[in-house]
Amino acid sequence: MLNKGRSVEELFSFFAEKKSLDLDHDYILSSMCTLPHSVAVRAHCMFMETNLGDPGLFPGTFSLEHLLVKRFGDLFHCPDAGGYATSGGTESNIQALRLAKALRHEVASPNVIVPASAHFSFKKACDILGLSMQKVPLDRDHRMDAGKAAEMIDANTVAMVGVAGTTEYGMVDPIADLGKIADQHDLFFHVDAAFGGMVIPFLDRPVPFDFALKGVTTVAVDPHKMGMSTIPAGCLVTREKDALNTLNIDTPYLTVKQEYTLGGTRPGAPVAAALAVMDYLGFDGMKAVVSGCMKNTERLIAGMETLGIPRAATPDVNVATFVCDQKRIPLPWRVSWTCQKHLRIVCMPHVHADRIEAFLSDIGEYHA
Ligand SMILES: *Cc1c(COP(=O)(O)O)cnc(C)c1O
Repeated sequence: MLNKGRSVEELFSFFAEKKSLDLDHDYILSSMCTLPHSVAVRAHCMFMETNLGDPGLFPGTFSLEHLLVKRFGDLFHCPDAGGYATSGGTESNIQALRLAKALRHEVASPNVIVPASAHFSFKKACDILGLSMQKVPLDRDHRMDAGKAAEMIDANTVAMVGVAGTTEYGMVDPIADLGKIADQHDLFFHVDAAFGGMVIPFLDRPVPFDFALKGVTTVAVDPHKMGMSTIPAGCLVTREKDALNTLNIDTPYLTVKQEYTLGGTRPGAPVAAALAVMDYLGFDGMKAVVSGCMKNTERLIAGMETLGIPRAATPDVNVATFVCDQKRIPLPWRVSWTCQKHLRIVCMPHVHADRIEAFLSDIGEYHA
């Protein structure tokens, strides 16, 4: 601690200096996060001090959390869904597997079946929960091989995971096939739609990935990605309204007697922000945003291929990947690279069409 405090001027000029070191979104092509929508910022500020960890003190904010879950239930074809607002995909995935494990507490050495493309949050979840992670190979399209997944299920399998919109290649696993397999084995089936959950429903031809499919138990979705909310906003949605009560523990000093969440103190601000964007834009508004992002993705792929840089995959969502030399990327653009060393660009809402053209022109000149 400083002995003496700092003046407001001094403090905020120091902060401004630090903030100026952060990257400008104009050049960020690597992130699944984006600039929050203006209604998200306004809602966030309005609910800044609210704590969903003690909902009896903030019943109004708590009702917004219910509404958010309700919106996702409706969007994912399960109007009576349960769930709660998490801090993001990582927490949703941990909690889904925690629930799956709790429901099969008699299994001594539990395992979970995940695609090789699963997000690294499943590694954290398995570490914390003492689960053995069985990775299913992918097919040529970077999708989980459902046949191989079925072969890997054994008596100790407590859950299977499919991804709707993979982090690296933007692919949707064969969720319908996996759901059938899960149903046949009476297996808990978690769909990680952290990214795709706010893209797929708004596509012109949405691939089924949600509770419309028999066998899907839970879905993770992140409003702080394509939902243009403020950070941190995630949601774990359960087909059964009260499914999460299995995780309840007693809470001695709060306005509620029990809780199943992972965090204790939980921010209401990003929950209000997430709901603000959804209710402001509505289905049609979200469809327009997603349609713009998909068009930009297609334009980027076509433009790169014209420059002799071929795609690595044809994605289901707005994540484009390329076979490209790392040295070909001019500064100050920020891109990312997959484990297989493919160039990866996420066409988020802040990556406007003119940014794609600017990038294409820069990379074209750079290696011309
Ligand atoms: C982003 C992402 C996660 C992790 O979400 P966080 O919000 O970063 O915790 C998990 N799964 C998938 C598929 C993701 O894209």
